[in-house]
Amino acid sequence: MLNAPMPSVLPVYKRYPVTFERGEGAYLYDREGRRYLDFSSGIAVTLLGHAHPHLVGVLKAQAERLWHVSNLYGIEGQEQLADRLVEHSFADTVFFCNSGAEALECAIKMVRRFHHDRGQSQRHKVIAFDGAFHGRTMAAISAGGQAKYLEGFEPALPGFPKVAPGDLGAVAQAIDDETAAILIEPVQGESGLRAWDASYLEGLRRLCDEQDLLLIFDEVQTGLGRTGKLFAYEWTQITPDLMALAKGIAGGFPMGACLATARVANAMAPGTHASTFGGNPLACAAANGVLDVLLEDGFFDRVHIAVETLRHEMERLATAFPSIITELRGKGLMCGFRLNDALVNGEVVAELINHGLLTVPAGDNVVRLLPPLIISEREVKEAVTTLEEVFQSFVDEQASTGGDGQSAP
Ligand SMILES: *Cc1c(COP(=O)(O)O)cnc(C)c1O
Repeated sequence: MLNAPMPSVLPVYKRYPVTFERGEGAYLYDREGRRYLDFSSGIAVTLLGHAHPHLVGVLKAQAERLWHVSNLYGIEGQEQLADRLVEHSFADTVFFCNSGAEALECAIKMVRRFHHDRGQSQRHKVIAFDGAFHGRTMAAISAGGQAKYLEGFEPALPGFPKVAPGDLGAVAQAIDDETAAILIEPVQGESGLRAWDASYLEGLRRLCDEQDLLLIFDEVQTGLGRTGKLFAYEWTQITPDLMALAKGIAGGFPMGACLATARVANAMAPGTHASTFGGNPLACAAANGVLDVLLEDGFFDRVHIAVETLRHEMERLATAFPSIITELRGKGLMCGFRLNDALVNGEVVAELINHGLLTVPAGDNVVRLLPPLIISEREVKEAVTTLEEVFQSFVDEQASTGGDGQSAP
């Protein structure tokens, strides 16, 4: 039998049959000129929507001056960006890279180096959580808590024991004299939008303090305003020692960042870590442009209006369609719903695309709503109307195929 021809793009992505040509604000347009309301934001990336005039302006201006010089030399925009991230977070210092997985790699290396520097090299294990997602490098899939991402790539790197999230006792039990850190997403994204109580995250901080461990927050998806505050840790009374950022940080330009306290970063001497592209002038111009807008007076007031409108409307839909939505999930504009098991999230997402609304599937049969932070009340209502129409068509179908339309088969 002939093998199917190998596509010139490595076939690791299952793509929806749509190709976009341009975007404007919260809308994307495909090659036929059809308009889609973008509640995917390129998976929580395009925080300011598409072709935001300020981002286009700063990136154009930078493109005409300087793209790349290497970290062998000073980079003005990088220093400015680091100063601003430090000023607006718990951190004292920032390492720039190009993706979320790389930001996590940096955090893991810094944790090991920190303990090594204090004569505690045996402390190398990073406790991570079932369901967690930290990216696709070997360390990231080893730290991740979903077996499917490791399949065929084993052995996993050693040193990433997993515990069930939500249970402080389980974490306490997993700590031994080789433990270096605890790594957690404040809201699990890929595995189905599970948000932890502040008290649980504060409990992890307490365990770290008692046992001399470091706390890493993976805010690759939650960071930069996605949950309604600049960083998700601001919903708690505590701060982490290290934080990984990426996705939305440069509004769609590839960038990652690892933020750390001085206490942790003291072990990182010149030569201990590096990146060719990390924090290059173009990426930093884009990221500074994102911060210009996020840090404007009143920006988060408007985000909160969108959050409240979306929450209110989704509560209404959950009540109106109990045979479809079993649970509302997430926090802020990183939210969504769990589907009844009679429905498959990937198929629902495909049907929503047919109706001009882009959403993102996640684990546990969840559909994610990840609008840009600039989403208006009117656009939220437009998305909800589309959801309502599609849900109603499912209910009508259930009724015509013998179900009562309001109960699971
Ligand atoms: C997307 C994501 C990553 C990986 O980011 P990449 O840029 O794809 O490497 C890591 N952690 C979390 C929480 C994410 O959502």
